[in-house]
Amino acid sequence: MKLLKRMPMISWMIIPMIGVWIATNYLIGTLRQPNWSVNGANAQISQAKLPPLPPINYQNTGLVTFWFDDAYLTQYTSAFPKLQEKGFVAAEAVPIKAVGTNNYMNWMQLKKLQVNGWEITSHTRTHDCEPSKLNAEGLKSELLGAKQDLESQGLRADSFVTPCGIGSEAELEEAKKVYSSLRTTDDGLNSIPVEDPYHLKTHEVRVDTSLDEIQEWVSEAKDKHGWLILMFHKVDDSGEKFSVSPDNFSKILDMVDGSSLPVVLPTPVIEIKGQQ
Ligand SMILES: [Zn+2]
Repeated sequence: MKLLKRMPMISWMIIPMIGVWIATNYLIGTLRQPNWSVNGANAQISQAKLPPLPPINYQNTGLVTFWFDDAYLTQYTSAFPKLQEKGFVAAEAVPIKAVGTNNYMNWMQLKKLQVNGWEITSHTRTHDCEPSKLNAEGLKSELLGAKQDLESQGLRADSFVTPCGIGSEAELEEAKKVYSSLRTTDDGLNSIPVEDPYHLKTHEVRVDTSLDEIQEWVSEAKDKHGWLILMFHKVDDSGEKFSVSPDNFSKILDMVDGSSLPVVLPTPVIEIKGQQ
């Protein structure tokens, strides 16, 4: 009888124990994030003004950019090592509010990407998909504020990516004041030199995008000497609409590698000038 009376007490103790277990695992998991380096070099970056990205020695070819949206953690854990193996760099569009939250990268991971040659780009503070509802102050916070937030972390923020691909005239005007380029989600290939740096087009890779389709985009970039921006969200096996499997991602990298097209960062492409 005594034991039976104690049973509820024991079951109550299980709940805090699970809590401690989750917290411990979280801490161990955090510490085990793939070899990020918290060192002096990183600390200095946030103080010093960043040098401009190296210019492209443009040879009249097509160009390819891998551009990741929203700072999903799987971009860091899955895509980044695969890109590194190939010697490729990429661009990352960061919504400030997501940083450090569950399933998104933290500041250290974003810094690690930058240290490894990636271009960090701005994706507003709150990822508001209705910029037309923002007043002037709100727009300023989303665009200029996000740039300041990134720069205060020692990260680059020269280019802007419109959340959900839905822009407004006022947002475009604000972007022109703050950034040197703006990427939309409009489908297409960009000309080189870039015709309108505030209307960069992209091809989005989703779970249902076939490898044949991507091969067509790569071939078109090669034939037309255009700039192909491949946009990605999650890199995992979730099968979600806005995901690509790590396996397919590897195949896309092989495809781009096989095309011999240079893999480049956005801002240096914007700076390519026409033939004199
Ligand atoms: Zn987004």
